[in-house]
Amino acid sequence: SGDSGDSEGETYTVATDNNFVPFEFMNEETGEMEGFDIDLIKAIADEAGFNIEIESMKFDGVVAGMQSGRYDIGIAGMTITEERKETIDFSDPYYDAGLMLAVSADNDEIQSEDDLAGKKVGTRSGTTSETYITENHPDAELVTFPGIVEAYMDLESGRLDAVMYDVPNVQYYVANDAEGLKTAGDILQGEQYGIAFPKDSELVEDVNEALQTLIDNGTYDDIYEEWFGE
Ligand code: GLN
Repeated sequence: SGDSGDSEGETYTVATDNNFVPFEFMNEETGEMEGFDIDLIKAIADEAGFNIEIESMKFDGVVAGMQSGRYDIGIAGMTITEERKETIDFSDPYYDAGLMLAVSADNDEIQSEDDLAGKKVGTRSGTTSETYITENHPDAELVTFPGIVEAYMDLESGRLDAVMYDVPNVQYYVANDAEGLKTAGDILQGEQYGIAFPKDSELVEDVNEALQTLIDNGTYDDIYEEWFGE
């Protein structure tokens, strides 16, 4: 500690989402947060030479925690948007994502987003999907939840007709966690995830540098393989 601008040995707080498979979620057996983002931020901290303390919360708490400066770093599959960039700083993009629909496996009616009129479509509040549905599907009945798993559960039980969410999360949930769900249609909107910081944070540069090193030396690919490999 000591010299300003030198992050060596410092401890920074990291805000993360409490349930966004496979980027961050609680391992019930160990009681620890794990996932792609968790491995990535640990590797970045190692590379840049700082320590981290991870705190999990609702996604909108991560956004608010960056805006208020309550936490030093946010990693939560957070989409880089022009609107957020007004109040939050982002690292370079670290993951290409987008939005997609999930429906019941026996639903033949909703083949794409063109079939959402009059349908109950669930998603999570404070996210890019909520904005997308509000702007592009005013004739759908939008239902928002604090956590995306609650939306999936309402889809499984038939209380919703569809869920719209981030492609990697929808695909992972449908393949690993869901009862009788499938994806529908194509990727609706391209997005990129960035690591978030309070505005004008001095950490942005150190984190970008470490991220680039991990991409160049294969560590990023190893983490990717672990969570998204076949
Ligand atoms: N990528 C989405 C957003 O930024 C949601 C991320 C999440 O639920 N953790 O709005």
